Amino acid sequence: MPDPALVASIETALAGRGARRCGSEIRFRCVVVGHEDRRPSARWHPERHVWRCDVCGVGGGAVDLARRLGIVVGRRTWTSAERRVIARLEAKRCEREAHARALRMAWLDALAELREAQAEVALLRALVRDDMDERAPRTTALLDEIGDAYLRELLAEQRLDEIEAEEREAREGVRRAAA
Ligand SMILES: [Zn+2]
Repeated sequence: MPDPALVASIETALAGRGARRCGSEIRFRCVVVGHEDRRPSARWHPERHVWRCDVCGVGGGAVDLARRLGIVVGRRTWTSAERRVIARLEAKRCEREAHARALRMAWLDALAELREAQAEVALLRALVRDDMDERAPRTTALLDEIGDAYLRELLAEQRLDEIEAEEREAREGVRRAAA
């Protein structure tokens, strides 16, 4: 259970980031450096004291969120051995976050590609239907184009699956490291 004063400072700071209540959560614009979040994509859970961004996948506890919001978190002075451990863990966390962000962006790209290919397949099918009605000779060429667009659709779907598997693996790796 984090310090109630810390939780209060977090919620005050979130108000400046477009915070709005959404069920049991508070949604706000993501605090991760490098994620220019225009709409509130991150959620803070005031009872469980955890936060997470839906877009870049980064999240953590109250102390993590407080630091990212620039709230000074009181603590004793670390020994130099502790500082080395912290520096190593923070470097690892940065690496993990960068990886998660890259995967998320790749996933969004693949999704856009999938939507585009699906739209193209739908459009071409509609053209073929019209052609069939007019018994026009374009149909064979259109069927080839449908084949190409359909292949792109399948490839984008496969890419999404691969990225999701990689994301799952990364999450499980973190869980194993924490256990
Ligand atoms: Zn984010």
